[in-house]
Amino acid sequence: MKEEPCECPDCQRFYKEHDRLIREFPTFKQQQELNWASIQSFRTLCSKVTEELQKQLSEKNITGDSLEKNEHICDKEITDAIDELENVNAYLYSIEALMERIFDIKISENIELKFKKISKMLAPDPLNIDRLILNRLFHQTPDLPDKNNFK
Ligand SMILES: [Zn+2]
Repeated sequence: MKEEPCECPDCQRFYKEHDRLIREFPTFKQQQELNWASIQSFRTLCSKVTEELQKQLSEKNITGDSLEKNEHICDKEITDAIDELENVNAYLYSIEALMERIFDIKISENIELKFKKISKMLAPDPLNIDRLILNRLFHQTPDLPDKNNFK
């Protein structure tokens, strides 16, 4: 029995994004760079927010709340977030170490061609002109304006 893809909006969004990343980054090298950049940017952002929260918390302790009246984040919320984000940063650091190993691997030009070929099969471009023509044929829309141009 073949499993059908889930129809819920979240899954649909995921499939779409998944295919887009294959379509727009169809080689091994591009996937390496994409994933490296993605992990790095996630870590940069999380680290910076953690740093800012720690600063905010220590300033609060020094000045005794007076400066922070306009900030609507309570101490508990800040300390909880710092704990969570420190865990996330540790996980990301581990992923980064593994990603570094993957990043070291080089693939020959012939194998890259294989990647490109397979990526086209996995995630064909929805705006690809061949597919548009094919869809028109399938849906049999005789009143398409440009159809007359081919007569
Ligand atoms: Zn779903």
